[in-house]
Amino acid sequence: MLPMDCHTHTDHSPDSDAPIAQMCAAAREQGLQAFAITDHIELCRFFSKGFYGTEPRNEEDFFDYASVWERSMQQNLLAKEQFGDGMQIICGIEMGEPNADFGLADSLLQDKRLDFVIASLHELPDMLDFYFLDYGKLDAQALLDTYFSELLKICKWGKFDVLGHLTYPLRYMIGDAGASVELSRYTEMVAECLRAVIRNGKGIELNTSGFRQKYGMPFPHEEYLRLYRDLGGTLLTLGSDAHCPEHVGGGIAQGAALAKACGFDRVCYFLRHEPHFIEI
Ligand SMILES: [Zn+2]
Ligand SMILES: [Zn+2]
Repeated sequence: MLPMDCHTHTDHSPDSDAPIAQMCAAAREQGLQAFAITDHIELCRFFSKGFYGTEPRNEEDFFDYASVWERSMQQNLLAKEQFGDGMQIICGIEMGEPNADFGLADSLLQDKRLDFVIASLHELPDMLDFYFLDYGKLDAQALLDTYFSELLKICKWGKFDVLGHLTYPLRYMIGDAGASVELSRYTEMVAECLRAVIRNGKGIELNTSGFRQKYGMPFPHEEYLRLYRDLGGTLLTLGSDAHCPEHVGGGIAQGAALAKACGFDRVCYFLRHEPHFIEI
């Protein structure tokens, strides 16, 4: 029995076309104890494009996450009723770019329907998602410098439940583009981020999507997971970042084994922003 999958998407996310019923059925098949639905809410495009006075920069540039928010909350509550028997369904969101508007983020987090918030950084201010960038033309190292400094702002703000996929840009820089970046210069910066997370009483996720991707490692990888543990981090969720039913629970067993090897005896899921622990 897998302990949990606390990072999944449905067709309310622009990059998924999976109905929630299929995702929940897959979760049940995998025997998950806890299952969080965490659709994308990107705060840099929360309102309509008219509000920002800009046009979509490519065909996947989606605005008006405000409407997604409402539909997602309603859908998740319904899923709790329909699939909550024997499996803990968690009403979550993946909040992208809270650094774009911390005031907006604060107000959204007042929503009482919400159990769980992953804070993610998918794109830098005035840039496209790391997924879209051309690492043959751009300076990957300089982008990483900015990534970690923006991430530190998010960690210091610290109102989320867990920090999502720490080192996300490496999926594309190293995994897909094969760019060579030097990571040792970020150790202190990552430690500062993790200290802020711990100080704020928050956690991080071990995002297992990298196991099934070209990158081949989770986000974060072992070194940063151990660093988090050494700094006193105890709140750790496991999430596959599945965007389709076939990926639900993907890499979770491997992630749990890695967490254990790094000194974690338990992982947790969040209900009403409170951690509930499961031994691993
Ligand atoms: Zn993400
Ligand atoms: Zn995600």
